[in-house]
Amino acid sequence: MSESSNVRRVAVIGGGISGLAAAHRLIEQSSSERPIEVTLFEASDRVGGVFGTIHIDDYLVETGADMFITNQPAAVKLCERLGIADQLIQTDPTFRGSLVLRNGKPVPIPEGFMLLSPAKIWPVLTSPIFSPLGKLRMGLEYFLP
Ligand SMILES: Cc1cc2nc3c(=O)[nH]c(=O)nc-3n(C[C@H](O)[C@H](O)[C@H](O)COP(=O)(O)OP(=O)(O)OC[C@H]3O[C@@H](n4cnc5c(N)ncnc54)[C@H](O)[C@@H]3O)c2cc1C
Repeated sequence: MSESSNVRRVAVIGGGISGLAAAHRLIEQSSSERPIEVTLFEASDRVGGVFGTIHIDDYLVETGADMFITNQPAAVKLCERLGIADQLIQTDPTFRGSLVLRNGKPVPIPEGFMLLSPAKIWPVLTSPIFSPLGKLRMGLEYFLP
């Protein structure tokens, strides 16, 4: 806190989504009675961190995060406060699903994967995505603290 005034000075290190959201929240919390001055430090020449969007031919490709869950409302609420909620795009059920490139071929992730956590054993055991040793190691997870 500055000694000469009641302005709280906060440094946010990193302009990825965490730093940007933190800086935004601090500014939201700032008031004339309790002003907060935020300085965001970003090492690279752009903010956004691992987020990125590129165009390849007619495709829009996200190089980092491309979605967030909505059963936890925080991210939607943040979009609402930022005034960008009307730009959110829902998943198109026709094309829902993920593919993993395995030996040069796109292979669907096993049925029952919820946010990359397996909820069904058999589809994982029969999936060509994982090696036999990989599957064995996954089985060990059950016994590990
Ligand atoms: C390919 C991929 C896909 C993903 N998909 C999803 C998804 O669909 N949904 C989801 O919820 N999550 C997803 N994630 C995870 C999510 O993207 C990350 O958890 C999140 O973006 C991390 O944000 P962050 O701000 O913590 O870190 P980062 O995005 O890494 O940002 C850190 C920032 O800090 C800067 N920095 C570092 N050190 C310094 C320093 N000393 N001084 C100043 N600046 C510094 C960096 O340059 C960078 O800009 C994905 C991640 C990847 C890589």
